Amino acid sequence: MRFDIITVLPGLLESPFAHSILQRAQKKGLTEIVVHNLRSYATNKHKSVDDYPYGGGSGMVMQIAPFAACIEKLKSEREYDEIIFMSPDGCQLNQSMANGLALKKNVIVLCGHYKGIDQRIRDIYVTKEISIGDYVLSGGELPAAVLVDAVVRLIPGVLSDETSALSDSFQGDLLDAPVYTRPADWNGHKVPYVLLSGNQAMIDNWRYEQSLLRTRERRPDLLDE
Ligand code: SAH
Repeated sequence: MRFDIITVLPGLLESPFAHSILQRAQKKGLTEIVVHNLRSYATNKHKSVDDYPYGGGSGMVMQIAPFAACIEKLKSEREYDEIIFMSPDGCQLNQSMANGLALKKNVIVLCGHYKGIDQRIRDIYVTKEISIGDYVLSGGELPAAVLVDAVVRLIPGVLSDETSALSDSFQGDLLDAPVYTRPADWNGHKVPYVLLSGNQAMIDNWRYEQSLLRTRERRPDLLDE
């Protein structure tokens, strides 16, 4: 799977993709993440990519031409399944959306800044608008990194067995069960005995019950669906 991320701040995305699972997925050739500097597609001499909003008001608006040039260039090189705009007014990211995106081949992700991007970019090019939650960040880079992480870890082969995504929260209708590691007794705080019992059926059953309990307590809405 390939991600092409278009941003004015490519530096903001260097570190998130250069560590841990995202780095390994790229090294293994399971995903390709290419970050494009929008400023290289600016046509004016100051290399600016934003301008004052029509109708006045505060904040700058990102212009259509640089985005169009970058998107058109990418589209001339390969077919894209989705062109995603990260936006607080988009559809809120969840696990099932991530599962769906993990099946795609090529995806472009647009990062907004300032007041946002010219509506015509959204009308003409964007096929999906995704929010990472009901709060406003200053740019689409961190949301794009969140999206890419959520999707890439679902690509077969990216996670090893020990970190399998299948038992994670939201993968079914339940939150994940509590987890413990050594020592079994920390200043009198003990690990639930069943986990030390060696009886796998009992352990599985305990985990299921804990998942159910946690979901009932914290996210009863998941059980209603
Ligand atoms: N004026 C816009 C917010 C602009 S914030 C509004 O009220 O909807 C600048 C950019 O940051 C956005 O264009 C978007 O790309 C990104 N962004 C901010 N919050 C986000 C969120 N919760 N989810 C996804 N992207 C977000």
